[in-house]
Amino acid sequence: MKRTTLKVLAAACVLLWIVDGCLLMRAESPRPAPSIGDQQSASPDPGSGARYTGVIHVHSTYSDGGGTIADIVRAGQDTGLDFLVLTDHDTLQPRFDGHQGYHDGLLLLVGEEVNTSAGHLLALGAGRDVEQDGPLGLPALIEEISETGGISIAAHPTGRRPWTDWTVEGMDGLELLNADSAWRDDGVLELARALVFLPFMPDGVFNSLIDRPDEAIRLWIHRARRQPVTVIGSVDAHERIPLWGERHLSFPSYERMFGLIRTYVIADTELTGDADVDEAILVKAIGRGSCYVVLEGYEPAPDFSFELTMGADTLSMGSSVVYQRGSRLHVTAPSSGPVRIRLYRNEVPLLETEGHELFVEVPGPGVYHTEVYQLRRQFLRGERPRPWIISNAIRVE
Ligand SMILES: [Zn+2]
Ligand SMILES: [Zn+2]
Repeated sequence: MKRTTLKVLAAACVLLWIVDGCLLMRAESPRPAPSIGDQQSASPDPGSGARYTGVIHVHSTYSDGGGTIADIVRAGQDTGLDFLVLTDHDTLQPRFDGHQGYHDGLLLLVGEEVNTSAGHLLALGAGRDVEQDGPLGLPALIEEISETGGISIAAHPTGRRPWTDWTVEGMDGLELLNADSAWRDDGVLELARALVFLPFMPDGVFNSLIDRPDEAIRLWIHRARRQPVTVIGSVDAHERIPLWGERHLSFPSYERMFGLIRTYVIADTELTGDADVDEAILVKAIGRGSCYVVLEGYEPAPDFSFELTMGADTLSMGSSVVYQRGSRLHVTAPSSGPVRIRLYRNEVPLLETEGHELFVEVPGPGVYHTEVYQLRRQFLRGERPRPWIISNAIRVE
């Protein structure tokens, strides 16, 4: 009798766990892109500049990735990217082999992930092969990347191989999200649940594994209080999990990763169709912080904007300005469902609204950034805010 009761109890627990997981994954599923009319009093002008959506940090068979450039290009085209930045480990060979360029509308740029004494560093837009020369060579490496017209970004700064030198000068930014590292901070139960539901509800499972990058945000704002720092969202896609010997699992797919985290870039001018010119346009915009990070798995965010108006001037993300009384911050985040916009000043929440738009007068100097959360309703658990967009900063001095 006692044994039967235990069995029934165990079965009930398993059933509850499955039902709860199922409801959670449903609550994590993608939202459709907003249609016109869905937006609640959103601004008709989502901000000036030309916008491009892309993925940064992808590995191919030139280093430890599982797919060829052709596989990656196909995945990029199938997922509707404007640009894609390949960053194989310690090599710029795909660039020398002529892979940088337009592939039927998709701009493939070739950067490099450089192994340094302080961690992995992405070199984007560097025209030549770079490497760190000796243990004291990090500043020289960063300078060399900058001299070639490139930018340097700390990869997975809080991941398994964290970035360790935050005093180094001249580094342009850091990865706020890295899809390859994001799941590693999740608990055993969360990962077990993800494995169980992966075959049935893959969209919800991948979204559920990404949380607000608290530590990376803290490191970013700390540095941004002294100098401009750009942040990006990276996929770090490999489509390859090593097993034993030469065996590997082709997972997660490039398509999956390209639909999970994206960086939207707001460029000064429209792209021209000339890959080298367009590389310079995009890299310049990314380097100055004119971009934002989107958890694309929830919903695309082509019309998000975060701007500061000061008299007749409107400044976007990445700007640094001197404080002027009467200047205003304006956030617009169109979505087909409920969202919460939260504005931060020096990493501390300043104001939030459960609408698609937020206006506030700038209260004084500070590093301002905004985060948009999707409010996801789950049966019995109520509404949970899930991170969707993280802006770059506007620095008011
Ligand atoms: Zn790395
Ligand atoms: Zn990598």
